[in-house]
Amino acid sequence: MSEHAQGSTPSPQEATYYWPNQMGRMLLLALEDVMGRNGVNAVLNLAKLRHRVNNYPPNNLELEFSFDELSAIMQALEEMYGPRGGRNLAIRMGRAGFKYALRDFGALLGLSDLAFRLLPLGMKLKVGLNAMADTFNNFTDQRVHVEDETDRFVYRIDRCPVCWGRQVDAPCCHAATGLLQEMVYWISGGKSFNIEQISCAAAGDSACDFVIDKRPLD
Ligand SMILES: [Zn+2]
Repeated sequence: MSEHAQGSTPSPQEATYYWPNQMGRMLLLALEDVMGRNGVNAVLNLAKLRHRVNNYPPNNLELEFSFDELSAIMQALEEMYGPRGGRNLAIRMGRAGFKYALRDFGALLGLSDLAFRLLPLGMKLKVGLNAMADTFNNFTDQRVHVEDETDRFVYRIDRCPVCWGRQVDAPCCHAATGLLQEMVYWISGGKSFNIEQISCAAAGDSACDFVIDKRPLD
């Protein structure tokens, strides 16, 4: 191998990771639910993703929606609306995204099965969170695992597309928070749980950790 060819081989740090097109499409549809098509187009333009304007990824499982694109969209949301406004929109986008996840991946998540519905709430949350992690692990380059602690679950994204390549002062993966919020709301039949992101790879931590209290707020 020539020196030049060796030099062009990407190092692990520069590797490109992907979601399948279908999930990228779901993300943009969820964002459209929150801010309309024109809003999405403005975000895509600011994120320098003009090729996605009115041209969402196709509905297939090819790994072609890159982590760079995903985090650029989240960063553009924050730039357009400020940290607080961007956070609110990202959470709402994540919550809307769960609806599409249920539609397209619901059978895999198994959350509608009778056997699942008969479980006690704590076990439902555990099974649901692990099913969500498995779905990301099986269909994307994202890596997730769930830890079961005494009073809470820790949902850990070891390779997180939401903040991929960013540098921030405080946890910024609000879309993931929203997705988790809506999932536990749906699983529990309309209860709310305290969910907090306590670490973030983009803030220098080793992973993006979300803690989910086992007891509902209400
Ligand atoms: Zn993250």
